Amino acid sequence: MSQLAPFLPLFRRDEPLAKYTAARLGGNADYLYLARSSNAELIAVIQAAWADGMPVRVLGGGANVLVSDAGVRGLVIINHVSQIGFQNRLVTVTGGVSLAVLARKCAALGLSGFEWAVSVPGTIGGAVVNNAGAHGGDLASNLIDAEIVTPDGVGTLTHADLAYAYRDSALKRRADRRFLVTAARLQLNDGDPSAIRALMEDFVAHRKRTQPPGASLGSIFKNPPGDYAGRLIESCGLKGFAIGGAQVSPIHANFFINTGAASAADYLALVEHVRAVVERETGVHLETEIELIR
Ligand SMILES: Cc1cc2nc3c(=O)[nH]c(=O)nc-3n(C[C@H](O)[C@H](O)[C@H](O)COP(=O)(O)OP(=O)(O)OC[C@H]3O[C@@H](n4cnc5c(N)ncnc54)[C@H](O)[C@@H]3O)c2cc1C
Repeated sequence: MSQLAPFLPLFRRDEPLAKYTAARLGGNADYLYLARSSNAELIAVIQAAWADGMPVRVLGGGANVLVSDAGVRGLVIINHVSQIGFQNRLVTVTGGVSLAVLARKCAALGLSGFEWAVSVPGTIGGAVVNNAGAHGGDLASNLIDAEIVTPDGVGTLTHADLAYAYRDSALKRRADRRFLVTAARLQLNDGDPSAIRALMEDFVAHRKRTQPPGASLGSIFKNPPGDYAGRLIESCGLKGFAIGGAQVSPIHANFFINTGAASAADYLALVEHVRAVVERETGVHLETEIELIR
């Protein structure tokens, strides 16, 4: 008997994923579950889906994923379960907590070390997987451990287990996507609330000055060792180059903008074109930071 049956009333059918992703494009999910109420319900849903053999993909803010035009078969879970607990300098957060919201709460409590996250889109779950970072900080520098659910049950992965690297982790490298990040414990430091806030406002202002507004996925390529993907793309004269509705930003060449009606195919064609031109002109093979979901 289907274990998912009792949860079906919670799901949306044939739900367009464009509104759940930062690039504002992509096809439909067969089923979509917007997790808001509790980790208990979220865990029950994902365990039931795994037990039924339904393909599952968990997303947070959809800020690093390019969803194909064909959409996603099976169940997409959007994790917005948001709870934060503070105990001195130890912060316990659920996977659906927004990085920016957490950064501002830490600032208000005089907790330093998380300022980098104030203008990074997405959730704790995505950041645990991607080792999100900015302005010299990253999640690996804060994380003690993370609670992970797999078909075998609930477990803990330590910082060492997660084998963090630049925008990379043991979870990101897992071919089998059968895991859910339900929570993380972060270690922060004491700081002065006004100094923390001032640093965060500097970070926000820097981003506004250097990065384009509009629908995008942030950096498309990882920076190669000792260089910047944006500099290489710009040096090839590709700023402003467009395929369909996807354009290399005239402001920051490592950002590709959805100018209004981009398809995932436009976006992918632009990624491959830029990669090929940069390789031909500079000899550097750029690795994507974004992830294609189909
Ligand atoms: C304008 C813009 C600026 C950006 N700037 C930066 C930046 O400065 N630094 C940076 O590092 N990134 C940046 N990014 C990319 C993005 O913010 C990060 O990659 C972020 O960590 C993505 O989090 P998310 O919750 O949106 O993850 P998603 O895009 O939803 O998912 C990313 C991956 O994590 C998995 N995942 C998400 N949540 C869970 C969960 N709870 N359990 C299991 N798996 C999960 C997904 O399956 C997927 O594999 C930017 C993006 C945009 C749009």
